[in-house]
Amino acid sequence: MKAVQTVAPSELVVADVPEPAEDAQVLIRPQLVGVCGTDVKVYTGAIPVTYPRVMGHEMVGEVMSVPAGSHLSPGTRVLLDPALACGHCDLCRQGRPHLCRNAGLMGREVDGVFAEYVRAPQNALLHVPESISDVAAGVLQVLGTVVHAQRTVSVFPGQVAAVIGLGVAGQLMVQLLGERGVTVVGITRSDWKLDLAARMGAAAVATPDRAESVLAELTDGRGPDLVVEAVGTEQTLARAIELATVGGEILVFGTLTGGNQGLPYYLLYFKELTLYNPRAALLRDYALGIELTAAGRLQLEPIVSHQLTLDDAAEAFELVNDPASMKVLMRVS
Ligand SMILES: [Zn+2]
Ligand SMILES: [Zn+2]
Repeated sequence: MKAVQTVAPSELVVADVPEPAEDAQVLIRPQLVGVCGTDVKVYTGAIPVTYPRVMGHEMVGEVMSVPAGSHLSPGTRVLLDPALACGHCDLCRQGRPHLCRNAGLMGREVDGVFAEYVRAPQNALLHVPESISDVAAGVLQVLGTVVHAQRTVSVFPGQVAAVIGLGVAGQLMVQLLGERGVTVVGITRSDWKLDLAARMGAAAVATPDRAESVLAELTDGRGPDLVVEAVGTEQTLARAIELATVGGEILVFGTLTGGNQGLPYYLLYFKELTLYNPRAALLRDYALGIELTAAGRLQLEPIVSHQLTLDDAAEAFELVNDPASMKVLMRVS
């Protein structure tokens, strides 16, 4: 079968590899797979893996065959929870498998979903109803992580939130906060991403230089109750700390791996801010994302900017960090 592998840092091949060996798991034929920043880090070697490694963790696909006694049946469309948990460490026992001490991710610790066939445990698969379009389904894995993140923050209707960074996650944050009755201000430099956020329900949008005045106007100068950092740089986290109201909350969604500018630590203290650093997602988060999408409450299709094929994997990986792209999907079948 065809699969997209990395065979050394920054070396990607579309290879012919053996199909996964038959075992007690479910055999799935991926329909759409998503490429994201994590895959790019695996590809470049920034996240070390053993080679060769089939990449990819975002997948919606069709069940081909199931083990005896499975609740799933062939032909069912499913979303994959790509996280692997050991089930026996202290965090798994606490019901927090997303923080498992022996955690893994498909496409990183084990072979992933950029392939014509994938095997996965039945408990990692969720049914995707017909009311969700093919393309929208390709965004459900990311949505699960956004739902997971928003469960950590306490927002109420009428409160004001700012979302810094309007890429795939930022756009989903805007929509989900809007659904929660929050007045959302989207912030980025890019005009077309601001336009998209406005269509996705942002009450106002602003370029970074205008953010403070737009937020001041909406909050009588107090600042937003919640700031979502969805870029992943120290600079934007510092900005979030500066913008938040006294006593406010900050949702750190972009993955920060250190910097050297320093954060406004005194402001963190002076404002008594609460920072949340959610990681990964639980099955309940994916399930809620599916429900909200099936009910027509979230619009995922406008977030997809590219649909390529596995053969175009090199191009797809290039597009992920291109400021002109949004969600990049590859169609497998
Ligand atoms: Zn991802
Ligand atoms: Zn564990």
